[in-house]
Formats: sequence, structure tokens, C-alpha cells
Amino acid sequence: MGRSMDIVSEIKARLDIVEVVGQYVPLRRAGRLYRALCPFHTERTPSFYVSPERQSWHCFGACNTGGDVFSFIMRKEGVGFGEALRMLAQRAGVELPSPRSPQEEARRQRLYQAHEAAMEFYHRLLMEDATAAHARRYLEGRGIDMATARRFMLGYSPPSGDALLRHLMGKGFRLEEVLEAGLLVTSEGLTRDRFRGRLMFPIWDEQGRPVGFGARALDDSHPKYLNTPQTPIFDKGGLLYLLDRARHDIRRSGCAVIVEGYMDAIAAHQAGFANVVASMGTALTERHVRSLRRHCRRIVLALDADAAGAEAVLRGHQVVEASEGETMPELTWRGLVRFQTTAGVDLRVAILPPGRDPDEVIRESPQLWQALVAEAEPVLDYRFRRAQEGKDLRDPQARSQLVQELLPIIAAVGDPVVRAHYLQKLARLSLVREEELASMMRRRRQEPSPAPRREGEHGPDPERLLLSLLLRYPDLRPEAQDLPEGLFWEQANIEVFRAWKECQTLVELAQKLPEELWAYTDGLISLWTRFPQKWDNDNGRRAFGDVRRRLEERYLRARKRALAAALATHQEESAPDQQHLLEEAFSAVREGRAGNALAQLLREDLELGFQLHSRAAQREANSHAEA
Ligand SMILES: [Zn+2]
Repeated sequence: MGRSMDIVSEIKARLDIVEVVGQYVPLRRAGRLYRALCPFHTERTPSFYVSPERQSWHCFGACNTGGDVFSFIMRKEGVGFGEALRMLAQRAGVELPSPRSPQEEARRQRLYQAHEAAMEFYHRLLMEDATAAHARRYLEGRGIDMATARRFMLGYSPPSGDALLRHLMGKGFRLEEVLEAGLLVTSEGLTRDRFRGRLMFPIWDEQGRPVGFGARALDDSHPKYLNTPQTPIFDKGGLLYLLDRARHDIRRSGCAVIVEGYMDAIAAHQAGFANVVASMGTALTERHVRSLRRHCRRIVLALDADAAGAEAVLRGHQVVEASEGETMPELTWRGLVRFQTTAGVDLRVAILPPGRDPDEVIRESPQLWQALVAEAEPVLDYRFRRAQEGKDLRDPQARSQLVQELLPIIAAVGDPVVRAHYLQKLARLSLVREEELASMMRRRRQEPSPAPRREGEHGPDPERLLLSLLLRYPDLRPEAQDLPEGLFWEQANIEVFRAWKECQTLVELAQKLPEELWAYTDGLISLWTRFPQKWDNDNGRRAFGDVRRRLEERYLRARKRALAAALATHQEESAPDQQHLLEEAFSAVREGRAGNALAQLLREDLELGFQLHSRAAQREANSHAEA
């Protein structure tokens, strides 16, 4: 790891971001910066800036994000960090250490080759063999023509026990290789083909290499769908079917649509909707979301109207919450982490007409499909609508139920601006005052919940840690007295902080706090057990400085999102003949004049963006110094 970090810095030192970005978009000098139409979203007025001094880029239009030369290449080329590293290393003339041993690489190549051969074997059978006639009839019945079957290399696995094995061994593959590729199954000492008598869907990884199969039964066999198991090249939790073919369209349209089944995805591509991928029947994972977020900001889940579909949304929602910047596992590449933290995802839900799946909708009415995707609802709006269905909100009982259902979901929203919006909405519907709802939310948090707080795995929640430090180390009072309340997002923490400011001792504090916060404050004090025994005031001060910086950064990011929303509204609402106002604002920012109100917004947004980047750079420098 340390070595790759050195390489990253070396590449950055050798390359000029202006030159790299300039190869993709024409940059114009604008004072100390360069400016262009954003390559990641459609706009009429340039809001994409590159800073040669900081070697960073920033879009303060719809993208509201930025980063270094690596994140630029990752987004622009739609590749992961590893691929960006390879591309930039080559450009900079830096040699990369091979990540895998040549033996390991050769072994993987054999697995790809085995799949290539198996894919062709199954495909030829489907297209030509008499025994596959019923498979061809099935496809015809599902509206899949032979050209499409060729395009997606659909196949048929013969029902006999070892036809594929014999075919592959005839081509020089060893038994162990075919086993490792997941193409065989061993039971009761007998090794046979894993897939028998099934319609075969080859699965490709994002680079377009065949890595596995989905296989559909053509009779009543169970399971109806059988997939390749986890192998060195088949990564079940991270693969999305057809992403290799869809990624171009996903990037172009800024939107990815996830369906569940192979047939749904194929029907979509056949009808020209090439931004569709399939989750292959598994629940959406954090990694799925991450791999799509590299290509687009909007992800639409196309779901059945039934209850199972609704359940999937719930899972999907939790997935996205879990992939918010701070909860990312630490082994993730630094560039990816930064990207996760700065780029949000816009997760939406499209509900299909009752009793129909995407495949049917697309075949019967491409227009309906288009409309469903275009009008997909934000996931929280969907939850709101769903919760209101079948309830008579004139009935206090029903309103109470609504609150019980929605409050926990709202409480899970990390962004305070978004959270406030939905809290207001719930207040309107339930006729419960917003303050009352906020206080209910706080009480809920004190109850032991089946899903424990994030404390533990990733260390204590930073707000609570900060308060706990204040309660433990009285010496921190002078520097903490003026902390802005905006650093705290949790209402309970704001109240404890306010009380702390007015009290000198814990006894005083206990008297000051409302009874409902006593147990909560005890929880804060119990965090002391996590501080090492030998800690003195200096250790406490350092820990305090650390967590304070984290909260300040989070505050800056939230402020930045709010500003971006305000700017986007401005841009949407301003008629074409108002464009000169925007132009004027941009020139004011560029030339350092005060300018109009919009210019103030832009300037603050730009400033915040750079503050965040330089903080991240500072953190990296520190971690280098420590290492
Ligand atoms: Zn942009």
C-alpha cells in the first residue's frame, strides 16, 4: 500500500492537471484558473474549473464535485482507480509494479479462456442443435430474436452429465481448471457439468471478459435460475449483468436503470434502452451502487408493484446509506473514498404496472418504459407515498401509524438539509408539530434498537465523541466554548452542548438537562471507558482537535451541497434571456468583483470546494509524515 501511495504522488508530480484535462475539454484561462463547459453534465454556461496551483478540478454546477487528476480520469473514462492508475502511469512514464504474480495472472487467463470456450460451446448448441429446439421456442415466445441471441451469446447446456467437461478437456483444459472456473459440480464423489439442460446467459465483467453464467431452467427444475458460484474471476456481490455494454450509455445519459432479471436487461437493450443492467436476482449491494456511481449520479430501481418489490427498495435504500463516505471500509483506495464522500447518489424508484415485469412492459410499450424511468420518484418520496396508501389521514390513529413508519427512515438521512425537508413534509401530513417530531426522533435514539449505532466498528460517532471529550477534559472549555452549533446534526447533541456551555460541572449539567436526556448523557460519559487510562489533558486536546476537524469538514460538505442545490435552482429557473445574469456572476467571480447575489453564491461554493480539497490534501500529507 505504501508503495502505491508513493507512485500516486510521483505520477501527480510529473503530470500537469491542466494538460491532462485539456485533452478532454477545451480549457480557457480565467485568472488563476482554467474554465470549461463541464464534461460531466450538460450546461450552457461553463461552471467547470481547474486550478493549476492546487492541481485539482471542480464543477460547481450540477455535479457539485471535484478532485484530483485521478478522480477526473476515473469519471471521464468511467474506470476504477486501478485502471486510472495504469493510464496515468503510462502517460507520466512511471512504471507500475505488477499487482499479481505472473503465475496468478496466467491462472486467471485460463479461467477466462475456459469461459470463452464454454460460451461458444453452449451458443453453438442453442443456434444449431436439434436438442435445443425447445430452448429456441422458449426465446421466441419471450420475444428474443436470433440476432439478439447472437448479440448476447445466449446458449443451451446439454442435459447429459459431462458434455461440457469433455469438450473443454478436448480443447486442452485440465480438470482442475474447469473446476476452479465453477463450471463443474462435485457431489457424492461424482464430478459433472454444473449446468444441464438450461438456457445459458454468459456474464461478462466490466472489461467485457466472460466470467460466469446465469442459467434458466426450461422445465420445472429447481432452482429456476442457477448462477456460477464465487470464483477468482466471478465476484457475485459486485457484478452487474451487461454493465460492460451499458456503461457508455449510462455515462451519456447520467442515469443507470437496475432491473432484476437477465431477460429484462436483454429486452431493454434489444429495444434500444442501453443504460439498463441487471442485479441477477441478488439484493443490491454497496459495491453495485459504487460501481454504478462511477458512471452516473442517478440510479433508478425498476420494481414490481408487489410487496416483494417494495421490500427490495427497503434493502436498496439501506445499501446507499451504508455506502456514505464515513462508513466506507478503510481498505478502499483513497481516491475512491474521496469520490464517495464528495459525490452523492440520486436513488430513484420506478414502479411497474401491477402484474408485469420490465421485459413485458418494454416489449408492449417502449414509451411507457421511457415514461416510467423518466418519472421515477426519489426513494424517500416513494416511501412517503407508499406509507400513505390505504390510510385515512383524518383518523388520528392512521396519522400516528404514518409517523411510526416514516420517522425512523427520516432519522437515517445523513444530510441535515434533506432531513429537515422530509421532517417538514411529515409534520404537514401527520399534523404533528415539527419540534415534536424531532423530539420523538431523539427519544427513539435512546431506546435500544436492533440495529446498533455505528459505534464499535468504525469508532464512536464523532459528535458523541466530541461531547464525551468535553465532559471528560475541563481544560478544553476555552477552545470549545465558541464551537458553532452547526457542527452538530443530532438534536440531542445540540442540547447537551448548549447545556454544557452554561454549566461548569457535571452535577450542574445534570440539573440543567431535561430528564429525557439523562440516559443519553450517561451514554456519553460511558464513552470515557474507551479513552486509554494514561491519557492526560494533552491527549484529550489532540483527540478533540482531530474530531473537531472531522466535524468541520462534514459541515463544509453539507454547506456545499446546500449551495449547489441553490445554484441548480437558480440555473433551472433562469429563463434563457436571464443567462446574462449568470454570465455576469461568473465574470465577477473571475475578476474578483463583488457582483450580484448569484456571484456571492458561486464564490462561496468555489471557496468551499477548494477548502475541502486542501483539507483532504493536508490530511494526506499528515498521514505521509506519520507513515
Ligand atoms: Zn458538472
